[in-house]
Amino acid sequence: EAPESLNFLEQIIEEDLAKGLPQNKLRFRFPPEPNGYLHIGHAASICLNFGLGERYNAPVNLRFDDTNPAKEEQEYVDAIKRDIQWLGFNWASECYSSDYFQQLYDWAVHLIKNDKAYVDGQSAETMAEQKGTPTSPGVPSPFRNQSVEENMDIFERMKKGEFQAGSYVLRAKIDMTSSNMLMRDPILYRIVNRPHHRTGSEWCIYPMYDWAHGESDYIEQVSHSLCTLEFKMHRELYDWFLDQIHDPALLRPKQREFARRNMSYTVMSKRKLLQLVQEKVVSGWDDPRMPTISGLRRRGYTPESIRKFSEVSGISKRDSVTDVSLLEFCIREDLNKTATRVMGVLDPVKLVITNYPEGKVEMLAMENNPEEDNSGTHEVPFSRELYIEREDFKEEAGSKFFRLTIGNEVRLKSAYIIKGESVVKDENGNILEIHCTADLDSRSGSGTEASQRRVKGTLHWVSIQHAIKAEVREYDRLFLDEAPDAHEDKNFMEFINPNSLNVVREAYLEPFLANAKMDDKFQFQRLGYFTLDKDSSDKNLIFNKTVGLRDSWGK
Ligand code: ATP
Ligand code: MG
Ligand code: MG
Repeated sequence: EAPESLNFLEQIIEEDLAKGLPQNKLRFRFPPEPNGYLHIGHAASICLNFGLGERYNAPVNLRFDDTNPAKEEQEYVDAIKRDIQWLGFNWASECYSSDYFQQLYDWAVHLIKNDKAYVDGQSAETMAEQKGTPTSPGVPSPFRNQSVEENMDIFERMKKGEFQAGSYVLRAKIDMTSSNMLMRDPILYRIVNRPHHRTGSEWCIYPMYDWAHGESDYIEQVSHSLCTLEFKMHRELYDWFLDQIHDPALLRPKQREFARRNMSYTVMSKRKLLQLVQEKVVSGWDDPRMPTISGLRRRGYTPESIRKFSEVSGISKRDSVTDVSLLEFCIREDLNKTATRVMGVLDPVKLVITNYPEGKVEMLAMENNPEEDNSGTHEVPFSRELYIEREDFKEEAGSKFFRLTIGNEVRLKSAYIIKGESVVKDENGNILEIHCTADLDSRSGSGTEASQRRVKGTLHWVSIQHAIKAEVREYDRLFLDEAPDAHEDKNFMEFINPNSLNVVREAYLEPFLANAKMDDKFQFQRLGYFTLDKDSSDKNLIFNKTVGLRDSWGK
């Protein structure tokens, strides 16, 4: 492959290989914190790391970054595993930062003994004040020169649970004058009196992200630890920590940064997604309007479409926002190739073909997928009384209306050419029935001259007598603003779209759909792509609209 096609991270890896790093030492990891469900931004990191694993035939670990028992739960661990597997990736080892708590503690003791860490008993506010500002040096803590023995004594007692949360922290002794604020004696351990979802009440001191992350990479011998740009300034600290413990016989991990993926018309931070769940703006983490992997799956997205989206949006060095229409483009392309073509009417009006015999039923063959060879056909019953879409008829219309009017002809998909004749209305003038006549020689595929006749419009339909009733859920963007969380003066919650869910209670579908299974993908002709919702049952079919047939946003 030509070197130009490598992204900048692959170039870094190629350089390392060229400098002598053996290829069999390459190892990557995806390190989620189990404090929420994965979203489309995480998918970028998953596709990146597992993609590198595939490219270099290298192991990729799934590492749960579970160092904050206040926010983490087993439910999230399970959901994360399910979503990664669904995306089509397999991790080499399932790892937990919490499995390294003892090793991290031992290394912290090593730091204290080397006079590289100290226990600080000041308040958080005081320590923050002493840190100074990026343009003025910090003030050393009065605890900074405490003896190794005193530090060891208090640290051990912190571990034993003798102190309250907030009374002591363990800090690295680095440089209170560093221009990098993160190097001004950062915290390694804090006291958290909360049970952990895996270690229970074994620990009451927990390592901070910076202390746990790089050391976990080192324990797992991850060669390239890829994280998002906000950690760029942390790299110096990542390296400083490794300097303290690195055994030259072992591989030394390298942190490199790439841009977060943001997407328009949504929010991506787990904290904000959790707020949407807790305040019941959505039905849960897997609500089909959520940018979560589980929400997209429930909406009808395929793993292929999400991986394609990651591929086409690429890996970048600068933060940017990807238009959600690109994601929609990817699913549309995928479903166009794979979805079974069916007919369903969401806003039905009755159509009677007055010259079609009462009681007659014809089974018409409908192509399952014109985009796929050998996809076969399925049968659709046709009869005298049908439903068509209310908006597909107007008594009178201009010459640009290519649907049914009185006196004009259209084709019923895979069936006959019909002509509008008259309407039956209620006392308020609402149309109850449309009466039409069919050219009974014009049946599609019958080979007659009339079957070849070209008319302007083709409508979808269902036979009333055979139709099955279903609920259909249509979705719009969850937010009305392109970047709901980018406003300084407004909270993202102010931009919620009040009409993001439209429930059609009585849609009528062709009977073939009675056998639809979870994960089956359908194109309801002329309407869009649909899939069964997890709430669906045999008695109460529920379909989600995944996406329309073309990009109609804003039109
Ligand atoms: P959030 O703010 O949504 O909670 P996070 O970065 O705290 O995100 P983690 O669970 O720590 O969430 O993320 C796991 C991995 O996924 C990290 O390596 C992180 O950098 C990466 N990641 C998270 N969000 C994005 C994103 N929007 N784009 C690309 N990578 C991301
Ligand atoms: Mg994180
Ligand atoms: Mg986070």
